[in-house]
Amino acid sequence: MDFELTEEQRRLRKEIVAFAREELGRDADARDREGSFPWADWRRCADFGVLGWPVPEEYGGSGLDPLTTIVALEALGYGCRDNGLVFAVNNHLWACVIHLLLHGTPEQKRRFLPQLASGALIGAHALSEPEAGSDILSMTTTARREGDGYRLHGGKCFVSNGPVADVFVTLARTGDGGARAQDQLSAFLVTSDMPGVVKTREQSKMGLRSTPMGGVEFDGTPVPASHLLGREGGGYQVFTSAIEWERSFMFAAHVGAMERLLETSVRHANSRRQFGRSIGAYQAVSHRIADMRIRLELSRMLLYRVGWLKREGRLALPEATMAKIVISEGLVQTAMEAAEVHGARGYLADDGIERELRDALGGPVYAGTNAVQRGILAELTGVRGALSGGGM
Ligand SMILES: Cc1cc2nc3c(=O)[nH]c(=O)nc-3n(C[C@H](O)[C@H](O)[C@H](O)COP(=O)(O)OP(=O)(O)OC[C@H]3O[C@@H](n4cnc5c(N)ncnc54)[C@H](O)[C@@H]3O)c2cc1C
Repeated sequence: MDFELTEEQRRLRKEIVAFAREELGRDADARDREGSFPWADWRRCADFGVLGWPVPEEYGGSGLDPLTTIVALEALGYGCRDNGLVFAVNNHLWACVIHLLLHGTPEQKRRFLPQLASGALIGAHALSEPEAGSDILSMTTTARREGDGYRLHGGKCFVSNGPVADVFVTLARTGDGGARAQDQLSAFLVTSDMPGVVKTREQSKMGLRSTPMGGVEFDGTPVPASHLLGREGGGYQVFTSAIEWERSFMFAAHVGAMERLLETSVRHANSRRQFGRSIGAYQAVSHRIADMRIRLELSRMLLYRVGWLKREGRLALPEATMAKIVISEGLVQTAMEAAEVHGARGYLADDGIERELRDALGGPVYAGTNAVQRGILAELTGVRGALSGGGM
């Protein structure tokens, strides 16, 4: 067991942190207030190569191995103050690009990956529906066979990057009532310029406000068979194979954010004086900081284990599920405690801590709620019926 980063990983981490600190998130507060997408920062990320980190070189990426990709994303999350920008990057990579990497045909990869890796195209995952959130198998969007393709009807909601996206990975019902629920769904690559694709209203949210979110309607959208991802009826397998990447890699940046909040809190604990001494001298403050450190280290270990398993080409569903729960809840707790350590400054908008807390609160919900993740984990641990039906 080797817990050391390689020299190459350490060098990469340093470069990414410097890039993210100097070039990204300068207008994070304004973006948060306005709820606007940071186009210039998106371009900077693209130029730096962020959007192609896990993409093989032959498709225009840098082909980082999974563990190194995690180290890179953690560094991005640590250095960049704009968690919404980082979330947009993560959605692009782990809700869209990963599907192509795992299931794309050579032709689909050639067509989409170079442009996704260069940032010319923005990716999104259109999965949730108004009546099908955790219970994705109950989705009602349909894809009917028509000629040499399919025709999509239905509506998706809560799509991160949706309002600015060019490529949607989506799931629709292709099977009839006879097939098992898991065999009734198929995955498709839908581009925003296809007829009948309508981006519906942008949805305003509590945090991660620089990641735009919206709905997308498929109003009789004709989708060629060449845009089917995986096989017909294999949509649920496409979804489950990609989700272990989403549930862990998307949360690498959270670990970086935890470290940033820890450092900010340590600085404040040492510099803020009350009753004639620094507030860090009070156990009520110092123990919070100790707990932040514990959460950070635990999160990192779980995450790196997933990265290692994926690098070895192994399945990591229980590990990714645990990482998702521990890291997303750990960041909420750390942001809460950072706010408390900062007193009024933690509550006011000026120092950005309250924004960090609002940004953190989405983590236990997206990529499958933590309640559902606990059901999945209990099932994987041997409890029969802990999550009936196969939820998100
Ligand atoms: C910031 C953010 C970004 C998102 N981005 C995307 C995106 O890009 N694409 C996309 O398709 N979706 C996205 N979502 C939607 C997300 O996937 C769903 O919110 C999530 O799957 C839960 O669905 P729901 O909101 O409809 O809640 P529901 O499924 O209605 O759940 C409501 C409550 O009931 C609980 N519950 C439901 N079923 C069970 C069960 N079996 N056991 C225990 N508890 C249960 C849940 O835990 C939750 O507390 C995003 C959500 C957020 C907050």
